[in-house]
Amino acid sequence: MDKKTLIEWDKNYIWHPFTQMKYWLEEEPVIITEGRDCFIKDIDGKWYLDGVSSLWVNIHGHRKSEIDEAIKSQLDKIAHSTLLGLCNEPSIILAKKLADLLVRHLSSGDPLIKIFYSDNGSTAVDIALKIAYQYWTNLGIKGKDTFVSLKEGYHGDTIGAVSVGGVELFHKVYKPLLNRSIQASAPYCYRCEFKLSFPSCNFACLNEMEQILKENREKIAAVIIEPLVQCAGGIIVWPEGYLKGLKQLCTKYEVLLIADEVATGFGRTGKMFACEHEEVTPDIICLSKGITNGYMPLAVTVVRKKIFNAFLGDIEERKTFYHGHSYTGNPLACAAAIANLDIFEKERTIENLSAKIELLRERLNEIAQLENVGDVRQKGLIAGIELVKDKKTKEPFSYKEKAGLKVVRLARKYGVWLRPLGDVIVIMPPLVISVDNLDRLLNVIKNCIIETIS
Ligand SMILES: *Cc1c(COP(=O)(O)O)cnc(C)c1O
Repeated sequence: MDKKTLIEWDKNYIWHPFTQMKYWLEEEPVIITEGRDCFIKDIDGKWYLDGVSSLWVNIHGHRKSEIDEAIKSQLDKIAHSTLLGLCNEPSIILAKKLADLLVRHLSSGDPLIKIFYSDNGSTAVDIALKIAYQYWTNLGIKGKDTFVSLKEGYHGDTIGAVSVGGVELFHKVYKPLLNRSIQASAPYCYRCEFKLSFPSCNFACLNEMEQILKENREKIAAVIIEPLVQCAGGIIVWPEGYLKGLKQLCTKYEVLLIADEVATGFGRTGKMFACEHEEVTPDIICLSKGITNGYMPLAVTVVRKKIFNAFLGDIEERKTFYHGHSYTGNPLACAAAIANLDIFEKERTIENLSAKIELLRERLNEIAQLENVGDVRQKGLIAGIELVKDKKTKEPFSYKEKAGLKVVRLARKYGVWLRPLGDVIVIMPPLVISVDNLDRLLNVIKNCIIETIS
């Protein structure tokens, strides 16, 4: 199909996500036709370094032969059968692998071993919220119908997930549609709400959290967070100790802790799961993005055994979890995930990250010196560069200036693909990126910041 027709049809028929379509219709879009390793190719044959892992999912690179083969081989057996009343082989094997992985990495207390499948991060979160609420009602504890979440938090785009979302730009318009939630201040040190600095603040944000839990414990079902890095809210990296402190508060006030590791899970932060950094085991964990290496839509919500047990009973007790999707436990997606998890062991993906994490740290320190760079934040192989109009006062650029967009547009010319979050330049390359390619990625970003706004 020729490029001109494809562009015409795209503009005629596709409504792109998170996109002001007025601008889209005025511009020439890039059509991707191929990928290999950490690169994607457009219809004109130009290759780009995939600096955001095709939106944070592609951890082992494109066209990974083991995953290609796993899907092809599953395809020769069956593409889909339901988990409603039936089992299938890949979903069973994957569940066992995930349970083992979680027990190995997040081992404190009652194990996280009961796995509920769905298709994407938002549904994984909705499922977690429903389970948390029903857990309490099944135990006969009424009134726990509220969730605590963080400002700048992001948990997906369905109504349930938006109810616990804290990104004003994305979420404010839907307020009238949303369920009950209480928002606590995020540990966003660069723009601290209490105008304090870490560590002399003594975690003022945790004190506020404690107040909320103390005053509302009877109505709170769970606290939901993105552990260590609030990604879509602008790569907000937490100060060390916040997560552990939060977990202690949840235990003290007897509310569940839901860890949304949709973005941070599977090695992103330098460990398999972000919660590992502070030896915290949540009661419920949500995983998606990296799970199939971007091959197939898949997510899991995993709960502790005691939560699962609260749903057991005779049918008339009405303790059943009435939830499920058409594609729950899809065999092709599960086969892709099994192959992807095997690669972690085979290629020692996480062990091989340390040199890259170090390089990223060094290069970010350089970039932090630039005139319009207010803050750089990093955890493992996630980083954010916050661009500001005034480095001293931290005054942001106005929306209209589109500083972040200008930088990534120029990077595209140099063969690097990025997608910013407003004026935060996001660095989220495949975990298997080579040291040389990572260095090149950072060179391009640095030069583009200098050329466009500094
Ligand atoms: C991306 C994301 C989601 C939503 O996942 P989708 O697959 O896009 O629905 C939820 N939580 C976090 C932390 C995410 O980064």
